[in-house]
Amino acid sequence: MDAVQMATSPWTWQIAPAPLVRGGPMRVVLMGPPGAGKGTQAKTVADMVGVAHVASGDLFRESVKRGDELGRRFKEYMDRGVLVPDDLTVQVVMERLARDDSRDSFILDGFPRSLGQAEALDDVLGADGRAIDLVINLTVPEETLLARLAGRWLCRACHTSYHTLYSPPIVEGVCDRCGGELYQRIDDREDTARHRLEIYREETTPAVDYYRDRGILCEVPGDRPRDVVTRTLTEAIRQRPA
Ligand code: ADP
Ligand code: AMP
Repeated sequence: MDAVQMATSPWTWQIAPAPLVRGGPMRVVLMGPPGAGKGTQAKTVADMVGVAHVASGDLFRESVKRGDELGRRFKEYMDRGVLVPDDLTVQVVMERLARDDSRDSFILDGFPRSLGQAEALDDVLGADGRAIDLVINLTVPEETLLARLAGRWLCRACHTSYHTLYSPPIVEGVCDRCGGELYQRIDDREDTARHRLEIYREETTPAVDYYRDRGILCEVPGDRPRDVVTRTLTEAIRQRPA
């Protein structure tokens, strides 16, 4: 059975995740505008193949939840829908990537988001002979993005993403995965969401172009049913450059 057929059955994922992607290190970046489905897909694929899912937005929200000084600074940027400055972002993500579970393999979600971050990531990985294998850019039309953000609910504990219409939880307000409480993000309100899309176009597009120029970018349409997107992603990961 090939990877695409296997990915159609969640039951099959649980008993035989390994053959879905080939072995060896897997250093993948998942890019795309807010609402493209990065978190949804990164979590699914990371679970399937047993690699770390590292989401810069989740790292910032955890820091906000701790209520420390750094968390207060992150919250101020996030609530306005602007990017956290590169130096702080790179520091937080690199500290996370230094942990044992993400030395060889990881899926990065929402990082890098600027050309400076992409270059910093290359420098840190390159210092000990590592490199990003594949960058996937999820593309979704703007009106669809806004509809997704407007209906998004997230788990406070495990960050799983739900949608009131497209993927509601079994019990309203409760995470199917861990039983955590669901909430809506302040920055998903329409005016802030539109602003975040502008910031994406201005600041993140140069990072997408950077990876395209290096020949490691794969564009995947994200406005398909979730399981179809997952299959396309796992196939792209399986075929990533050696
Ligand atoms: P991102 O991490 O890129 O900001 P999310 O993964 O949180 O995006 O997804 C944004 C919203 O869209 C969530 O409410 C999620 O449930 C929903 N969603 C994700 N993928 C799909 C899809 N393929 N079809 C419909 N809705 C989706
Ligand atoms: P996300 O959860 O990916 O939608 O990110 C939520 C918010 O966290 C963004 O709007 C930014 O304020 C901040 N953020 C997340 N990732 C980054 C990043 N790589 N660079 C700068 N800011 C980020």
